[in-house]
Amino acid sequence: MTALAPTGPWINGQFIPGKGDPLVIHSPSDGSRLWEVPAADAKQLDTACRLAREAHEDGRWRKLPPLERQRTLMAVAALLREADVEWAERIAAEMGMPLGAARFIEVPYAAAAFEFFAGLIPSVTGKTMPVDIPGAPPQYLAMTLKEPVGVAGLITPWNFPVMLPSWKLAAALGAGCTVVLKPAPESPVTALELGPLLQRAGVPDGVVNIVPGGDEVGASLVRHAQVAKIAFTGETKTGKDILRASADTIKRVSLELGGKSPLIVFDDVDLEEAVSQTLFGNFFNSGQVCQATTRVLVQSSLYESFVARLTERTADLRVGHALDPSIDIGPVISEARMHLLEAEIDAACRAGARVLTGGTALTGPGFLFAPTVVADVAPTMSLFQRELFGPVAAVCPFDTEHDAIKLANATEYGLAASVFTRDVGRAMRMARAIEAGTVWINTVQVLTPTAPFGGFKMSGLGRELGASGLDEYLEEKTVIVDLNDQPMTYF
Ligand code: NAD
Repeated sequence: MTALAPTGPWINGQFIPGKGDPLVIHSPSDGSRLWEVPAADAKQLDTACRLAREAHEDGRWRKLPPLERQRTLMAVAALLREADVEWAERIAAEMGMPLGAARFIEVPYAAAAFEFFAGLIPSVTGKTMPVDIPGAPPQYLAMTLKEPVGVAGLITPWNFPVMLPSWKLAAALGAGCTVVLKPAPESPVTALELGPLLQRAGVPDGVVNIVPGGDEVGASLVRHAQVAKIAFTGETKTGKDILRASADTIKRVSLELGGKSPLIVFDDVDLEEAVSQTLFGNFFNSGQVCQATTRVLVQSSLYESFVARLTERTADLRVGHALDPSIDIGPVISEARMHLLEAEIDAACRAGARVLTGGTALTGPGFLFAPTVVADVAPTMSLFQRELFGPVAAVCPFDTEHDAIKLANATEYGLAASVFTRDVGRAMRMARAIEAGTVWINTVQVLTPTAPFGGFKMSGLGRELGASGLDEYLEEKTVIVDLNDQPMTYF
């Protein structure tokens, strides 16, 4: 792996010495100390926000011809694709995503978002509309203009260190905004490299500023008067804090929050195929995926055979160091996460659930947790309700389609859901009845930059990706022109 020079905040097109408490990055795979990242302090964050506002006002990005901005974002995507292997290795090191998974998802999905939003740039247009003004002659023209909201503050979690910042950056830049990005304190190293990469692609200095730091840096970004919009991905609890804190400055806010998504298996499916998809839905990236389908609801007639096969296949998964190409599952992010998983599994077992495989941390070094299947989980249990962010599948039986819908909707979350059945009518009835931003039919975890992604209920506010993802960074302005020879006056 390429050794990195220590970086700090990326402000106005260069790394500057960070004055905040340094972020020490340990490998989740073996606990070794990897990097120390100089963080931004409050003054440096303020500088980043002011410079981003200056860049918005002088229009060095938003006023460029649209096709020039489009070519620049396409160049970002091309540079990302060139960096694929090197970046995947670094991501695997810093947050423990298995190398194969990092190559499969992080850079390709980051690049695709830049390509998608680049493609939308020329179609950011307003409309004209008929005018109706009581008592006035009809010669008026009304039109709308779409304009960037201003400085967008982007705050991201650790679980997809490049893909999630890139989704937000691509949409914000596509809309013509300037940006202050605060990556997660656990995995800022690769995200910081986006600064020089965007510069090489031709994004003018000062348009994108990156401030590594802890939660307090994120909180200051939310309160900053020069920031017009916050786009946040992270825990529901943090999303609530951000919504409250943004009230004082009436910020535009979009939130991508937690989930406890159901995967519903009817008894007409191919058992082996449904089990394979359940493994992917639960254990990809050690279950540290917001849309992970951690509540597995299985029709009673198939329940015992499904649970038996899921248990066998789960027990066969190989857990280990993220950089070892032979593993299926890497570590979880921290020791605290392992303790939380064990405590939740114990509590469920005390309430009558059964651990069929896994359930405990594995001998280290590193934060390795055995992929786990817990059967007979009931809706009243915390294991059914709480997002755990670990490799734990909670399985629960149901009898009828009606029961499946009730169980699917029985949490505060509504991010995603997956339905397995060969009955098309039933699949579509379920898709309509489930309260979730995404419903997969006979598949799981599938995302495309071309379709909106986001949550119902406490899983979020607004949409990321798709054409609606761009709208989150645009204001709509109405312009009304009097075309009459004799303009109408009131007095
Ligand atoms: P987190 O909420 O703890 O932190 C996310 C980011 O917010 C970090 O950069 C953090 O420093 C910052 N932050 C923390 N407190 C803040 C505050 N008061 N004001 C402003 N910023 C603050 O989340 P995490 O542990 O990093 O990530 C895991 C969570 O992210 C899970 O709940 C997961 O479901 C969610 N997630 C959601 C999606 C989605 O698209 N819905 C995608 C990935 C992850």
